[in-house]
Amino acid sequence: MVDAALPSRPLAGPEARVFATVGPELFAALRTARPERIVLQVPAGLVRNAHALTAQIRDAVTAPVVLATRPCFGACDFPSRDEAPRADVAVVLGHAPIPNVPLVRTTFFVEMREAGGDPERIAASIAAAPIPRRLGLVFSVQHLGLTGPLSAALAARGFDVRFGRGDRRLAYAAQALGCNYTSAEAVASEVEAFLFVGTGRFHPLGLAFAVDRPVWAIDPLQNRLEPPIDRAALIGRRLLAVAAARDARRWGILVSTFAGQNRTPTALALQGRARAHGRDAEMLLFDRLDPRDLEGRDLDAYVNTACPRIALDDGPNFPKPVLTPPEFLMALGERPLEPYRFDTYH
Ligand code: SF4
Repeated sequence: MVDAALPSRPLAGPEARVFATVGPELFAALRTARPERIVLQVPAGLVRNAHALTAQIRDAVTAPVVLATRPCFGACDFPSRDEAPRADVAVVLGHAPIPNVPLVRTTFFVEMREAGGDPERIAASIAAAPIPRRLGLVFSVQHLGLTGPLSAALAARGFDVRFGRGDRRLAYAAQALGCNYTSAEAVASEVEAFLFVGTGRFHPLGLAFAVDRPVWAIDPLQNRLEPPIDRAALIGRRLLAVAAARDARRWGILVSTFAGQNRTPTALALQGRARAHGRDAEMLLFDRLDPRDLEGRDLDAYVNTACPRIALDDGPNFPKPVLTPPEFLMALGERPLEPYRFDTYH
């Protein structure tokens, strides 16, 4: 269990508990909680194992366990009361809690920590590459255990390593969240490049939007180093979307009902800005956004206040331009195009 690393929750309400993996500590804590009914939610990558995990927890805890059909993208979209009305405890796999998101029931976050990855071997690979020595580190939650050992191994090879604490949406220092890279932003002025430690392209891409520094990435299990992402190309594509929406008269403002994706005050403020510029702006409420829900609407463009990655990663799937709030202000002429600002979800 890794409760000790979690800062105290600033919000009153149901409790968040944190576990490293699915195993005896989780089962013992669940038995102690004496749940009436558990709802289990898994990320898309674990759907194949979800039914076996459901049975495993049911057998170990001897309590009813229902599986949420909807996978989670983050700790922001756990099952609502309506999705699991009889469950008094949730088990959410693959994510750290987001400390400033209020929970609807006691929730056990299982971060699926990965014990693998040899810090000396990783540091040797990094030292052999043309990576600047003043280096910021950012980790996926699964690999946060490498923060100390990898920092030490890099320092021993002449690197000046930094990582930041970030804001209240991050549970841990050096943590990456797809909508919040404030742990990196906190040290960006002190480093020449960043290294993301984890798997996949999701976080390196988000980090490249958020910081004006080269972003390298290493898969710590395969010891595979990826060269920096072309930030200029990423931002160039977003500025094309801004240009395509600049003359939009009728805007849709996308607002999610998920607890950790709802930015109603931002949406209202954006609606005010649109109207101040003589544009129509209609709120559209949803939970998980499906591009098909936007088809056939008499709207010219959208600004998305839910997960920022919807616009950045999935924009081409939508029938009309979908901008982030900072991009929307660019389209209205209220913000300059440079420097590009990532839609950090605080
Ligand atoms: S808002 Fe998006 S990026 Fe942030 S935690 Fe949720 S799914 Fe991940």
